[in-house]
Amino acid sequence: MTLRTVFGRRLPSLEAYRPAWILTLGSLLITTVLWSAARFRGVAPPDLWPWRACSQLSVLWSVTLMAVAMLAIVRAHALEPVFGGLDRAVRFHKVLGPSAILLLIAHVIFVALAAFQNGTAIGDVFIPFWSQSARSLDILAFYLLLLLGGLAYDHRMSYERWLAVHRLLGLVFLGGTVHAAIEPGTIADFEPLRTWMVILMLAGGAAWFYRVLLFNRLGPHYRYRLQTVVPRGSNTIDLVMRPVDRRMMYEPGTFVFLRVPGMEGQQKELHPFSLSSSPVDRDLRLSIRTVGDFTRRLAALTPRTDLEVYGPFGGFTPLHYAPFRRLVCIGAGIGITPFLGMLAFELSNHDFRRIWLYYVVRNDQEAVYDTEIRETYLAAESYIDYVLWPTAHRGKITAAQVASEIAPLEGYAVMLCGQVSFIADLAGQFRALGVPRDRIIIEEFAFRVTGRTGRSVP
Ligand SMILES: Cc1cc2nc3c(=O)[nH]c(=O)nc-3n(C[C@H](O)[C@H](O)[C@H](O)COP(=O)(O)OP(=O)(O)OC[C@H]3O[C@@H](n4cnc5c(N)ncnc54)[C@H](O)[C@@H]3O)c2cc1C
Repeated sequence: MTLRTVFGRRLPSLEAYRPAWILTLGSLLITTVLWSAARFRGVAPPDLWPWRACSQLSVLWSVTLMAVAMLAIVRAHALEPVFGGLDRAVRFHKVLGPSAILLLIAHVIFVALAAFQNGTAIGDVFIPFWSQSARSLDILAFYLLLLLGGLAYDHRMSYERWLAVHRLLGLVFLGGTVHAAIEPGTIADFEPLRTWMVILMLAGGAAWFYRVLLFNRLGPHYRYRLQTVVPRGSNTIDLVMRPVDRRMMYEPGTFVFLRVPGMEGQQKELHPFSLSSSPVDRDLRLSIRTVGDFTRRLAALTPRTDLEVYGPFGGFTPLHYAPFRRLVCIGAGIGITPFLGMLAFELSNHDFRRIWLYYVVRNDQEAVYDTEIRETYLAAESYIDYVLWPTAHRGKITAAQVASEIAPLEGYAVMLCGQVSFIADLAGQFRALGVPRDRIIIEEFAFRVTGRTGRSVP
């Protein structure tokens, strides 16, 4: 593991995540300055250095990171510019959340070392109810957090259960922090630090409350009615839907969460799908690969079924590629969907760009959008070169092959969409060829880190 990687993931780059890093590092700085001020103000206890100081700083940094991590995934439009879209925010969260837990573990180790230094009972640090002075509730909350943190990496768990574990983890963290803050200690002793911690806890708490309890009801959502389900072959369907009242305005390349209120047993589930229609059309289209229970049931929906669409979200949009006049777009499998929406929009926006579109599929049968691309979108004013890449005959696509076709690659931005491992691999290759980080724009079709494929290059 290098300094630039945490938990097998590359750290979100400073260039691509500037406002998010400013928020995170700024918050950590405030925490550190206030803690230092608290130390200067009072008489520092003789045993402050090194372990007590480290234990205090690590827990304060942990709370700070967790508050920002919770804000990142709140799904509020107002926060999207800070994190560059919800998809990027999720990637940022995946680094901050585990870092906060690691800092908490470090905190407990430092507390134990401080106890060792002072000759007090180590049992008070690790064993609840060991003695009257053991902070039993904090210890129990810590073990629960460890358990939930471990479960979050259990890849056998269903997505919905994994989400529930995450929700509980946030709640236990908040509860533990509130409890630690009201106990006598550094936070309670210095008012400015206490106020700052309260602000962080309120921000984290409000984010949790909105995301878990209010989003389904208050999140930005629109009522749609299913027009048709179009089977495309190769386990892929198009859902075409029409607004019941207001129509959702969106940028091409964004994604929405779909909910089917009448789907028994799964009526509360929200699943993300990219929009494959153009924003100029009244109807929305989602192009979906039927991979599990929810998506398979979508294939059986009948026309006029009520649907709810939450969004739009995401940073895989023209806002990000507007400055770049030359684009390489690579969609793998169902990862072609956001490009379909973008190309449909190119037809009507009278813009002129140089686009190379690669549609990577296993074999010709899987290329279910090939005809649509050839027959419809290549007529756009933008100059589009389209390459269908069936890996069965052409082998794995590599950045070097793309670069040799396009030559020179200089001046191009690269947009990649598909499964996490595919994107991580190709983004790494383009980086190695010298494409700057801010010119690699990615959309991963998974929010959850999955097994061996959980690496990504943001
Ligand atoms: C930003 C984004 C855009 C996406 N766009 C598309 C698209 O245009 N077309 C398409 O076919 N698929 C898309 N996906 C993937 C799609 O969301 C999942 O395939 C779908 O939710 C699977 O649900 P399931 O119950 O049928 O399958 P399951 O068997 O339950 O899950 C299969 C995998 O899908 C993921 N998943 C399941 N439920 C959810 C959920 N509620 N939220 C997020 N991920 C979940 C999990 O990683 C799981 O391992 C996108 C995903 C993301 C994150």
